[in-house]
Amino acid sequence: MVLIDGKKVSADLQEELSATIRHDRSITGKLPGLTIILVGQDPSSQVYVRNKAKRCKEIGMNSTVIELPDETTLEEILERIALLNADPETHGILVQQPLPPHIDEMSVTLAIDPEKDVDGFHPENIGKMVLGHFESCHISCTAYGILELLGRYGIETSGRHCVIVGRSNIVGKPMANLMLQKLDSANCTVTVCHSASKEIATLTRLADILIVAVGKPGFITAGMVKPGAVVIDVGNNRIGDASTKSGFRYVGDVDFDGVSTVASAITPVPGGVGPMTIAMLMKNTVNSFHRSNGL
Ligand code: NAP
Repeated sequence: MVLIDGKKVSADLQEELSATIRHDRSITGKLPGLTIILVGQDPSSQVYVRNKAKRCKEIGMNSTVIELPDETTLEEILERIALLNADPETHGILVQQPLPPHIDEMSVTLAIDPEKDVDGFHPENIGKMVLGHFESCHISCTAYGILELLGRYGIETSGRHCVIVGRSNIVGKPMANLMLQKLDSANCTVTVCHSASKEIATLTRLADILIVAVGKPGFITAGMVKPGAVVIDVGNNRIGDASTKSGFRYVGDVDFDGVSTVASAITPVPGGVGPMTIAMLMKNTVNSFHRSNGL
């Protein structure tokens, strides 16, 4: 059984990006810049944002965090985005989700210049990805990170059956569209399951590659997996654990101990898909910098 080590792959990717940034700077004298807008005090979001900013700094990229209070209006957020859209030093804009309930997330997504939408959530980027215009779009980071993991582990995907559990806009739908593309590490026959799907275990057992993004701890058990399948666990669920200092820990959507006895390869949680999502955010920002500087 192969443990697909997202921490190691993302560290490798960070080193590569860091070298690219140094090289680009020697030619242009400029650095890529990512600005993150955080609205409100959600503790998990604060940790995610801090982590993203820290990792950007580690690879030599500029990163700025704009923290706004809970009561910020949609108009105020849109004004900030308009300024960043016009700023030549800002190559990536990320508005951390979830936003407070009075803010319409779609209005925020639509306001970001698609060239700077390094999350890959803007309909223009999603549309280009679906149509296969990869040179001019940003691919949604989690799906892009999973493709990178499959590629770097040399996992054969072409013509194989990929089953995705979950159809969210940020994971399941982009993932399904990506695995369908005539691309290395994709080119699959794709099935997507969701909460209305019948006989889920029958469907998941057909998977050569099983990608799970449900948000339910241990949802996929060994009996739901075909022996030899490759299993990618996107889930990141916080559960109580009195034995840890914090009183909680994070687990995936896959019962790792059981499924690792039947899978040929599997991602752990933590240390699988999670670190790759941030790495691809940085890669998208570097790609945006390249496009804006004609590199
Ligand atoms: P989400 O928006 O809540 O979507 C969950 C999906 O699972 C929905 O499509 C839902 O179906 C489906 N589902 C729920 N119960 C089901 C069931 N019993 N059988 C089959 N399908 C079911 O969640 P998400 O944003 O995609 O995130 C999923 C998980 O991934 C979470 O744990 C999240 O924290 C994690 N995540 C991790 C990363 C990372 O970088 N590691 C990034 C994003 C998300 P319906 O559409 O029918 O409701």
